[in-house]
Amino acid sequence: MPTALPEKVETLVLGAGLAGLSTALHLGPGADALILEKLPHVGGKACTERIGEFLFDVTGHWLHLRDPGIKALIERLMGLDAFYKVDRISRIWSHGVYTEYPFQANTHGLPPAVVHECLMGAIEAARARPEGAIRPEDEPENFADWIRFYFGEGIARHFMVPYNARLWGVPADEITSRWCQRFVPKPDLSDIVAGGVGLNALKMGYNAHFLYPKTGGIQTVSEALADAVGRDRIHLNTAVASLDLSARVAHLTDGRTLRFDHLVNTMPLTSLVKSTANVPDAVRAHAGRLRATPVTYFNVGVRGTLGVRDHWVYVPEADWPMYRVGSFSNAVPSMAPPGHGSLYIELSDRETPPEALKPRIVEGLIAMGFLESADQVLFMEARHIPNAYVIYDFHYHESRAAVHEWLAAQGASSIGRYGDWNYSSMEDALIDGRRAAERLAG
Ligand SMILES: Cc1cc2nc3c(=O)[nH]c(=O)nc-3n(C[C@H](O)[C@H](O)[C@H](O)COP(=O)(O)OP(=O)(O)OC[C@H]3O[C@@H](n4cnc5c(N)ncnc54)[C@H](O)[C@@H]3O)c2cc1C
Repeated sequence: MPTALPEKVETLVLGAGLAGLSTALHLGPGADALILEKLPHVGGKACTERIGEFLFDVTGHWLHLRDPGIKALIERLMGLDAFYKVDRISRIWSHGVYTEYPFQANTHGLPPAVVHECLMGAIEAARARPEGAIRPEDEPENFADWIRFYFGEGIARHFMVPYNARLWGVPADEITSRWCQRFVPKPDLSDIVAGGVGLNALKMGYNAHFLYPKTGGIQTVSEALADAVGRDRIHLNTAVASLDLSARVAHLTDGRTLRFDHLVNTMPLTSLVKSTANVPDAVRAHAGRLRATPVTYFNVGVRGTLGVRDHWVYVPEADWPMYRVGSFSNAVPSMAPPGHGSLYIELSDRETPPEALKPRIVEGLIAMGFLESADQVLFMEARHIPNAYVIYDFHYHESRAAVHEWLAAQGASSIGRYGDWNYSSMEDALIDGRRAAERLAG
């Protein structure tokens, strides 16, 4: 039985992921705002699934809080005592050995010929770069060129180019470098050389520490937000089928309609355009050029202790069907029952049916030292994320901007990782919601 909806609402929010929840929360308790969510639960990608006594997020969902307002919000809703502060343990597995993250600053331990190639490449790249500070406009736009510009041929060949192609699902020269400023650590030459001879103790990158709920998985954050919004303002199992932005009406899949003054969308930008009436052909064409990579992953329950302590490990080599192996229970033991471990395995092979990849993945887990034997695997369940990573190809910036410009002219905004169509974090989704609420209030 669907919950009763009003005929009209001042602000309609599509999606009860973090961006949608944050929008409603920041609009305040007095605002006439409603969230429609097609799934039976809140949280969107920030949700947790139970398999037996194991808890699994949609692969690793580690919380990085840098914005003081968002940190204060989480503290107010849950108290920071509800979280562990975890120091990242993360390495790269290639050439049959582990090296520290990030690869470019830690090649020590690889075969000497590989270390030599990486260091010489980095030295040549440094020599070829212009002297002094490099302005963003002087950086190569093509991501493959950007990698060689900063790190040289060896680091490109042994990690950066193959790993990124496996993650993004497209070759590095098909994407631009504009996404990577915040996510790819850029050690200078002296750090690269120090890392080649084993002298680097630096914890680099945006994710050197993270927060994670002590119990219940990342879903507890989404639930706390939903409680603060008010459950009566969130309609679950209620999907929008189509929208008319000039008539300001949403048609639901169950045949009902809801009128609104303002729309804040968080479903994928491409889906929004597809389900909206009277979109000009040029805008539809731009939306048609926006691409995203799907990811299939396995949730794995393991009997016994895992032989590797890492929270996640990058796998750049094409011999293996997975690009990353992570462990929830290594970060927070309550994610698995006592005496057990849990893993998530993200697949780079997007062609072969996942079931057929299981034997090779288990071989990899044994080779990597996570498992001693295949009979430790209690279950391996595949899950799929249709638009996991939006692709920053050479149409991306122009096409995304054109779609947003048209939506803004209709008085609608589209926010969050998929609504805005970008590569961003849970905290960004919360910030997006806050900004959307501020714009509406302003
Ligand atoms: C593989 C992976 C790993 C990640 N790891 C991390 C990490 O470690 N740390 C981190 O900070 N971030 C991580 N993220 C990013 C994080 O998941 C997102 O930034 C954040 O959860 C996005 O929230 P959102 O509200 O924008 O989108 P979503 O969570 O996608 O929410 C959108 C909501 O809209 C709903 N919806 C869609 N269509 C309709 C419709 N027609 N009608 C009604 N509702 C609809 C959906 O069901 C969904 O609930 C990761 C993402 C992925 C894919």
